[in-house]
Amino acid sequence: MNKNQKKNCELCGRMNVKTTVHHLLPKEEGGLFGPTAHLCIPCHKQIHALYTNKEIAARLTTVENLRRDESLNKFIKWIRKQPADTIPRTKKSTIRKKGKR
Ligand SMILES: [Zn+2]
Ligand SMILES: [Zn+2]
Repeated sequence: MNKNQKKNCELCGRMNVKTTVHHLLPKEEGGLFGPTAHLCIPCHKQIHALYTNKEIAARLTTVENLRRDESLNKFIKWIRKQPADTIPRTKKSTIRKKGKR
């Protein structure tokens, strides 16, 4: 498994973004082996900026609940309009034409 593989963000739904693993039940609240979601970096940061682990554990342990939360919902609407490739480009010679769909 490649950690840097580009995927879809499960929260905002943007495609081909770099994702990180979010523990739906925070590790600190006992969710180490619990369910996870793949979230793009901005979404992931936003969740932890808005809520404490305790708040997440109390009412935001599913992607659906996160989406429904008012302040996060506003953020999702905004981030959806942002381009996926906001990550700085790295100079590498491995760039090839990948099949576009
Ligand atoms: Zn996202
Ligand atoms: Zn997280």
